[in-house]
Formats: sequence, structure tokens, C-alpha cells
Amino acid sequence: MGKNYRSELVGAFGCPIDENPTGVMEEAAFKAKGLDYRYLTIKVNEGDLEAAMKAVRVLHMRGINLTIPHKVEVLRYLDELSEAAELIGAVNMVVNNDGKLWGENTDGKGFLTSLTNEGISVAGKTITVLGAGGAARAISVECALAGAAKVNIANRGRTRGTELALLINERTSAKAEYIPWDNALEVPADTDILVNATSVGLYPNVNDKPDVNYDTIKPNTTVSDVIFNDPHTVFLQEAERRGAKTINGLGMLVNQGAVNFTLWTGVEAPIDIMTQTLKNEFGLT
Ligand code: NDP
Repeated sequence: MGKNYRSELVGAFGCPIDENPTGVMEEAAFKAKGLDYRYLTIKVNEGDLEAAMKAVRVLHMRGINLTIPHKVEVLRYLDELSEAAELIGAVNMVVNNDGKLWGENTDGKGFLTSLTNEGISVAGKTITVLGAGGAARAISVECALAGAAKVNIANRGRTRGTELALLINERTSAKAEYIPWDNALEVPADTDILVNATSVGLYPNVNDKPDVNYDTIKPNTTVSDVIFNDPHTVFLQEAERRGAKTINGLGMLVNQGAVNFTLWTGVEAPIDIMTQTLKNEFGLT
């Protein structure tokens, strides 16, 4: 048999995409495992996704990540969905199985692993989620599927918040409640795990924090933030000051990337290398 000069291709479609660091992390992982894979960070404008998804098949790409604004629209171009992706209603990664495109959502799985790595289980717990967008949906659904007893959803926009609560109540065994969020949020007293799944605090607005009455955070609460490019968001600092255990968003990013790596390659992901690569990218020690 002749030598193979063709690399397996994966990557990401999004817009904006230029500042997405996932490729550096995945390429470091491929190298560490001696895999001939390339991760391409590709700008795909809104309205161009259909053509881009055709290209996944035509170019025999092994798979693709989807980010803003394509996570929901991509559902139209897929052949199959995982149970979680179907429930979440959004896909952040696709595997191309000989021309059949299968969609999965690994954001919530990455979040759960980042908790597990800190010795925290969601089983039987009450989770209070700030936000009802893509990340919040993924986190809420995966927590419910992993046995959380209750999911409180606080969101500014009523429609998105009530829709997510309804979905969890109707489609999972967890209970869910929508909490209107007009003024400083009083964290529900039964909260075991509080998650900021809004985009508040995202670079460059690093001094912003969600509108919460931080004195209602109890010291036995675990507080987590999805924001990944700042390990000490103001939100986490406020929680730390109230004695809470805090978990930043880097672990979620690394762990969803690790699940994607394994789904594409069938090989266990080198988590330590992926974590260190991202820390280097963000100038963290
Ligand atoms: P969406 O646009 O889908 O959702 C944004 C959410 O933030 C909505 O619930 C919105 O509320 C809420 N929000 C925005 N501004 C405010 C505000 N000022 N006060 C209160 N709520 C606000 O975004 P995503 O869910 O896709 O992303 C959210 C964050 O998660 C981003 O920062 C993203 O980078 C991060 N993320 C991190 C990942 C990781 O691996 N760590 C993975 C995926 C995402 P409303 O409905 O009222 O507008």
C-alpha cells in the first residue's frame, strides 16, 4: 500500500471565529497522540451554513464544531442527532460517518466533567442556572439527564426562560422552575450549585458581573462560571468572598473539546496537554 498524504480534517464553522482558541488545543492533542488530523478554524457567515455543511461531505471532513451563529440552524443539515442534542435543540459538534452527519452537543457534558473533576456530582442536587441561551440549555439539560433533582432557571427574557423550564419538566425526570430576573437576583435558598451561563463578564467586558444579591450565596454552595478566558471573573470573586467553592469555565472548554476529540478519532484525549495548551494561550500559569 502507498503512503497516505491525506490528513483527516476537522474544524469549526462560526462568525465571529477569529478569536476562537479551540484549534490550538485540538492540534496539540492530535500531535501528542501522533494522529494525522488537522483542525481548521473557518469563518462561515450567517446564511452560508448550508453550503459549508455540503463541503463537510464533499471534502470528506471527519467532523466539524459549530459556534455562533450556527448551533441551531445546523440541525436542518444533519441526518441524525444524539438524544441530548435533540433535547437541547442545538449542536456544537458533528461527526461525518461516511457521508452521514450525526450531531451532538458536548457543552453540557464538558461542564459536568469539570464538576466531576472537582469531586462534585449533580445527582439529587438543586442547580440554579443564570441564563437560558445555548450554554444554559446545554448545562440545564445535561444536569437533568445526570440526575439533578431540580433546575432553577433565572433569565431576563421570560420566553426563553419559561421554554427551558417547560422542556426540563416535560422531557426529563428533574423538576424545573423559571425565576423572573428583573432586579438583583436572590439566589434560591435550596441552591447547591449556582452557574453563570450568561455572557456577562465575557472579554472585553471583564468588569461586568451578573446582577445578583451576592450576599444570598451560602458558603456551602458550588459556584461556576462558563466564561473561560478569565479564570477569576468578578462573579467568581464575589462568590469566593462569601466562602463558596468556585469552578471557572476553562474546564468546561477543555472537557467539551476532549469529548469532541474522542468522538472524531476514537482515541482517548490527552486532557493535561489540552489544558496546558489553553492555559498558555490565555497567559495563565
Ligand atoms: P446566548 O446568546 O445563546 O445566550 C446568552 C444568555 O446570556 C441569554 O440567556 C441572555 O439572556 C443572557 N444575558 C446576556 N446579557 C445579559 C445581561 N446583561 N444580564 C443578564 N443576562 C444576560 O449565548 P451562549 O449561551 O452561546 O453563550 C453564553 C456564554 O457561554 C458565552 O460567554 C460563551 O462564551 C460561554 N460558553 C462557554 C463555553 C465553555 O466551554 N466554557 C461553551 C459555550 C459557551 P436573554 O435571554 O434575556 O437575552
